[in-house]
Amino acid sequence: MALKIRITAAPRPREQSLVPALVYRAEAYEEADEFREPKWGCSHDHESVEHAFHCGMTWLDQQPGDPTEAP
Ligand SMILES: [Zn+2]
Repeated sequence: MALKIRITAAPRPREQSLVPALVYRAEAYEEADEFREPKWGCSHDHESVEHAFHCGMTWLDQQPGDPTEAP
């Protein structure tokens, strides 16, 4: 079972802002899961896809090793 990281985008929750800014969050899902149900999601409001992706990869690094993913 391999976990994969994906990025979701959501409108920034700030009513005063007229700028439709987006925030990004990382989610992890099982590669083999046909529904791709999220196993984990970060709780931050990342400013960019890169930041969110880095957050997801950092989380993934901290998970107990999957032997097929080991270096
Ligand atoms: Zn995050």
